[in-house]
Amino acid sequence: MIFGAKSDQGKVRDQNEDSFGIKECLFIVADGMGGHQAGEIASSVAVEKIMATVFSDAPVAQFLKEAICNANEAILQKVAANPELAGMGTTVAILLLHEGLAYVAHVGDSRVYRLVADGSLQRLTNDHSLVAELVKNGEITEEEAKNHPRRNILTRALGTKGETEMELGSFPAEPGDKFLLCSDGLTGFVDDNLIRDILLKKVHPQALAGELVDLANQNGGNDNITVIVAVIE
Ligand code: CA
Repeated sequence: MIFGAKSDQGKVRDQNEDSFGIKECLFIVADGMGGHQAGEIASSVAVEKIMATVFSDAPVAQFLKEAICNANEAILQKVAANPELAGMGTTVAILLLHEGLAYVAHVGDSRVYRLVADGSLQRLTNDHSLVAELVKNGEITEEEAKNHPRRNILTRALGTKGETEMELGSFPAEPGDKFLLCSDGLTGFVDDNLIRDILLKKVHPQALAGELVDLANQNGGNDNITVIVAVIE
């Protein structure tokens, strides 16, 4: 397994509210929200709590559920102790590689992709956002969703209520598979075809992560950008 990661403030925001974490075969991207540094706190608390959850012999699905639940509770506790942080929350996208399977768990609109050996790019997550719902119901097109005034509204996030429902999938993982985890600061500015073109390059994942961030910045950089690229050798 080789990987690279980069998180960048972008060109407009005055702070970076995204966080990421990597621990052995566990990869996490979180995109926080809430002003006055609250978003940064929410995303970093979530990443810390997920990484601190012990991965024992429990089934992977149970571990991921527990990790996300711990993260949610930690954010709620932080808000209870610091009322000025009220309203903060975060997305989370997790990839866990274990015994030949890739487990993908997420809440919100941070995404996980996989570039497979034939060069095709698969999106492994469905955004938990208002615009994704509208697209699904046929009310707007994918194209309209990109510039929709309410595109930042999430239908699920950590820290917003006592129970958090994650979406979980598992897929056989093959040598050569290239995974990308990212916040919407990438996908809002770089479309899937361009992401695929970059991931196809045979360079180190750290160089790929840098190129993806650079491209999002060239296309506006109106949001914080975080990417992790992990390749199974
Ligand atoms: Ca964002």
